[in-house]
Amino acid sequence: MANTIHQGLQGTPIWRLGDRRIASVVPMYQQIHFQHLTAFHRVVVAYCPVMHLAQSSARERHIIIPEIVDDPSYCCALHELGHIIEPTQQPVNVWDSWIGSPNVRHNEIEAWRWAQAHALWWTPEMDAVMQYALWTYGIPASAVLSA
Ligand SMILES: [Zn+2]
Repeated sequence: MANTIHQGLQGTPIWRLGDRRIASVVPMYQQIHFQHLTAFHRVVVAYCPVMHLAQSSARERHIIIPEIVDDPSYCCALHELGHIIEPTQQPVNVWDSWIGSPNVRHNEIEAWRWAQAHALWWTPEMDAVMQYALWTYGIPASAVLSA
């Protein structure tokens, strides 16, 4: 399992904004993978300082994500990309951008499924990010597992 690779490297310091050293190659693999996906799918990327500001615009094909420096930021980036290129994403306008909207609920679940399916690896830490993000929409994590 790819998880084994990650677990072998756990405890090593990770690259963070402002650091000149890259102490682990893991974020670099994730960055290269993500850059490949966004270039291939012609999605424009901008960066935000914190994860909870991440967002996507399917109409403009752009996403705003935290810089990819670790597993949480990587899975967050994949999730936002999923909102653009996952094929069953539904249109959402300002009037149904509330947590009870079936389209919002569907989009969140499917974007996380897409992120899981396309990640180089998926770790418990990434799962925790997903569970928290779903919780903010009132969606149980089990919804991602059930078909
Ligand atoms: Zn989302």
